[in-house]
Amino acid sequence: MKPLLNVRDLYVGYKTYIGRLKVLNGVYLTVHQGGKVGIIGESGCGKTTTMKAILRILATNAMIEGGEIYFRGSDVLKMGEKELTDIRRKHVTMIFQDPTAALNPVFKVETQLADVIKYSVSEKVTKEELRAKSLEALKEVALPDPERVLDSYPFQLSGGMRQRICIAMSLATAKDILIADEPTTNLDVTIQDQVLRLMKNLVEKRNLSVILVSHALGAVRGTVDRVYVMYAGNMVEAAETKELFSNPLHPYTQGLLESVPKLTGSEFSEGIKGRIPDYINPPTGCRFHPRCDYASDMCRKEKPSFINIEGDHEVACWCYYKR
Ligand code: SF4
Repeated sequence: MKPLLNVRDLYVGYKTYIGRLKVLNGVYLTVHQGGKVGIIGESGCGKTTTMKAILRILATNAMIEGGEIYFRGSDVLKMGEKELTDIRRKHVTMIFQDPTAALNPVFKVETQLADVIKYSVSEKVTKEELRAKSLEALKEVALPDPERVLDSYPFQLSGGMRQRICIAMSLATAKDILIADEPTTNLDVTIQDQVLRLMKNLVEKRNLSVILVSHALGAVRGTVDRVYVMYAGNMVEAAETKELFSNPLHPYTQGLLESVPKLTGSEFSEGIKGRIPDYINPPTGCRFHPRCDYASDMCRKEKPSFINIEGDHEVACWCYYKR
C-alpha cells in the first residue's frame, strides 16, 4: 500500500549569527491512511522542525538542504504556493503546543473558526451557515455552552477550552492528516487525558491519520499504533507501540524509557547522561555516541542507517549490524 506521507532522508539547517545549525540529519517517516504515528524524543531533537518542514512553514532562516517529502505521491518540496495552501487548508492540519499563541487575542472565537471553515469549503456559504458549522465543530469537541464560547475572546476561556477550539479548527478542515505537536504540554494533568481521548476518538471516527509529537511517553503509548524515536535530528528507532515499549533496542530509547519516573519506585532514575548536542558542530558518525555506553570507533566515524530487525521493528545502531 502506498503511504499517504513519506519523508525520506530529510536535512534541514538554520542560518544563525553564530553559524549554521545542522538540525535534521536525514529524517525518515512514513504515515499510511488511517495510521496513528507517534514521535518521541527529548526537547530540541528536531520533532517540531520535521513537522513544520512537512507543511513548509519553517522559519525564514531555515533551509531544506536535502531529502524528499511526498504527500499522496506528490513532491511537497516542488509544490508552488497554491498547492501548498490547498494542502494546509484541506488535507494536513496542525495543532500547536500553545493554544494561547495559536489563537488571535483580538478576534472572537466565531470569527476565527468561521474563517478557517470558509476557506476549506469549495461552495459559497452564508454567515448563518458558517455560524451553524462553527457551532457544530465546537459541539464535536464537547465544549459546554458552545454559543457562549463562539461569542467569547480567547482570553475569556481556560487553557483546556482554547486547546479544544484549536482541535475543532483542525478537525473542521483536515481530510487526511492531523499533526498534533505536544497538544497537551500546556494543560493541567487532569485535562491532558480528556483532550487526548477526545482527539483519538474524533480521529478514529473520521478515519484520519495522526502524527502525535510528544515527550510525554504515556500519552504516546495510549494513542498511537507506531512510534518513531528521534534523537538529535535522526530517527533512531521505529516499531509498533507495544513492541517498542516492551523491547526497546536503541540505547537512547532504552535510556528514555528508563527515565520515566515510576509511581512505585523508591528512587529516581539518573536519566540519560549528558545532553542534546550542539547543532553547529554535532558529533560525527552516530550523534548519540558521546552519551552512549556502547560507543565504538565505528560509531564515531560513520552514521548507522535504519535496519530492519524483525517485523516492522527498525533501528539505527551499529550494535545490530552483523560485521
Ligand atoms: Fe551507541 Fe554506537 Fe549504537 Fe550509536 S551506533 S547508539 S554510539 S552503539
